[in-house]
Amino acid sequence: MAAVAIRKLDGGEVKLEQSAIDDLRSKLRGPLVCLGDAGYEQARSVWNGMIGRRPAMIIRCLGTADVLTGVNFAREHGIAISVKGGGHNISGLAICDGGLVLDMSLRRGVWVDAAKRTAIAQTGCTLGDVDRETQLHGLAACLGFVSKTGIAGLTLGGGFGYLTRKFGWTTDTVRSMEVVTADGRLVRASEEENPDLFWGLRGGGGNFGVVTNIEYMLFPVGPEIVGGGVAWLAEDADRVLEMFRDLAHNAPPEMTCVAAIRPAPPAPWLPKEVHGKLIVLVLVCYTGPVREGEKLVASIKSFGSPVGDILQRRTYVSQQSLLDATQPEGRRYYWKSEYLPGITPGIIPKLIEHGRRVQSPHSMVALFQLNGALNDLPGSHSAVGNRDAHYVLNIAAAWDSENDDSANIEWARSSWRDMRSFSTGGTYINFLTEEEGSDRLQAAYGQNFTRLVEIKRKWDPTNLFRVNKNITPG
Ligand SMILES: Cc1cc2nc3c(=O)[nH]c(=O)nc-3n(C[C@H](O)[C@H](O)[C@H](O)COP(=O)(O)OP(=O)(O)OC[C@H]3O[C@@H](n4cnc5c(N)ncnc54)[C@H](O)[C@@H]3O)c2cc1C
Repeated sequence: MAAVAIRKLDGGEVKLEQSAIDDLRSKLRGPLVCLGDAGYEQARSVWNGMIGRRPAMIIRCLGTADVLTGVNFAREHGIAISVKGGGHNISGLAICDGGLVLDMSLRRGVWVDAAKRTAIAQTGCTLGDVDRETQLHGLAACLGFVSKTGIAGLTLGGGFGYLTRKFGWTTDTVRSMEVVTADGRLVRASEEENPDLFWGLRGGGGNFGVVTNIEYMLFPVGPEIVGGGVAWLAEDADRVLEMFRDLAHNAPPEMTCVAAIRPAPPAPWLPKEVHGKLIVLVLVCYTGPVREGEKLVASIKSFGSPVGDILQRRTYVSQQSLLDATQPEGRRYYWKSEYLPGITPGIIPKLIEHGRRVQSPHSMVALFQLNGALNDLPGSHSAVGNRDAHYVLNIAAAWDSENDDSANIEWARSSWRDMRSFSTGGTYINFLTEEEGSDRLQAAYGQNFTRLVEIKRKWDPTNLFRVNKNITPG
């Protein structure tokens, strides 16, 4: 039988005999899907339609033993390997061209210990998987804003969402992780066990091993909260964003505010005549007592002349999926992002200027509020750093046709170049696009970069795990 060509770690090619592939298959519990097999296209697909990479083989891992077998196989044959969690990375880092993908997405178990307020989640889980299981107990992990995002990539890069102001980066709320290392060991990383690895995993991405389980702290949240959004026409954007600035500044840590400028989507809560017109949105989530929340959001709801309002009591689970429909899988996406120290003078007109220039009905300029618990820890607490961040600015281009690639990418890049001066100097590793290289990696990690290199040298000296925002062992 013909040998199969697989990409090697160094970029070259190795020919694997069919017998080697059959032998690998016999050791796995989950399916091994090769180029051309049924299910291949689905298994290789990721959220960003710009990514067209085609791996040679995909192990759809069912258990930790499958992960271990895959890592050993890749190391022994010197082949390129990548790890797929929720497939939502903007750079498409879940998929390596021509190599082997370890796909975690069949592993979606969540075990909640309500008494201890912890949950162990397998790394194929989406945020929604964890929210649904933890909310059965009136608890929640500190995760992100879109329920289909994978917990693995989000957590390993830092992670933020509606609970961040109160509890910190997602990684600040992780108790332990189970990891398959480059040399094929299964280890636990926590403050007590392998603390250096634990430090690096909390922000350092997939550089140090394949994480199989994550243990999260849980917090009492919901099930009912006050959340949703209010929209105004962009004519009022300056006044609305000034209101947003003051609102966010005075908000208690239980409340998180997000602002976005974008063309109105055809959502049922927005009148038809507004669809496609530029609007400014304020999204809010308040997780304290609901009566208190209703009082706090009253001034937003009565501000000016909104064209839509769904800011109300709702379940926390519904809040967590409110933005899902705006971020469908398969569309073309390109982002540029910075951390901001605040809504500083001059920024509001720039947000409006670049919002007005969007090239697609799906694009937006968004500000996510972060300040609170994450600012209380020292920068060296874990790899994620960026403890001076108060907001994330995301210039998020989204469009449908390849023909519109350059106009949309150029919009995001030029807006970002113009707004970069407002940055803390730091940027979110999980929002970096494909072409953003070592200077942006340095910006993302700042002073923590040197320690990350040391940890990489110890845990992955041959750089087996390099399909990520890569920290080279030097
Ligand atoms: C629509 C959307 C909304 C988002 N919202 C938020 C948000 O609210 N907050 C936020 O913080 N971020 C957010 N993000 C960014 C998100 O954190 C990153 O895209 C993240 O990489 C997604 O994780 P994933 O598992 O889905 O990604 P994948 O593409 O599957 O994986 C990304 C990379 O993570 C690493 N990785 C994945 N699984 C493992 C594993 N088991 N072991 C080791 N390494 C692994 C690998 O390097 C992999 O290539 C959002 C992204 C999108 C697309």
